[in-house]
Amino acid sequence: MTRCLDCGSPRTADQCPSCGLTSRAAELVYRRRLVSRTAIFLVGSLAFPYVSQIYPPLDLDLMLVFFGLLFFLALTIAVILENRARRHKEIEVLKRVYSGFIPLPWILAATLFVNGRLDSQKNLAYYPTTVESKFNMKGIVRGSRRLLVHSWRPGQHVERLAVDADDFDRFQDGDTTVVAVEPGALGIPWYYGIYRR
Ligand SMILES: [Zn+2]
Repeated sequence: MTRCLDCGSPRTADQCPSCGLTSRAAELVYRRRLVSRTAIFLVGSLAFPYVSQIYPPLDLDLMLVFFGLLFFLALTIAVILENRARRHKEIEVLKRVYSGFIPLPWILAATLFVNGRLDSQKNLAYYPTTVESKFNMKGIVRGSRRLLVHSWRPGQHVERLAVDADDFDRFQDGDTTVVAVEPGALGIPWYYGIYRR
């Protein structure tokens, strides 16, 4: 059975009995929607790393891995969708799954933004620690410089702080420092600054 690309109802004639579009018109509408949804997803995928530089969570690298998987999965689904649509195969379930992916980068970005924006400097906590090592991941996203310091959190060996270029150059292995951390309005602790002890 073939289905209307636009509304998904079974197609018995060239003109869909449900939405009234011919198969060619339905394909056009479907494609346009796929492109605009993908655009919304891609812009959100830029918003997330951007906000994560303003209010970087302590577990940023973990989030970036999760985000990378999400991004890869969504684009894979888009490619499969496109393939199946071209061969007139069943796509209703995949269409719905893909729609579910579209707002995710925006939700992640908004969560980090609210978490940082609604936080108060009165809540800053300071943790004495030492720099263990540092590294600069070139070419992935801006702001991929990390200072690795001994962690103050139980069960965690190091904190990978997303520092700016100045702090990255200023600190060396073995330096004794104090790290300022905000608890986060939504309970996601984020890195505020690093200072010399
Ligand atoms: Zn239809």
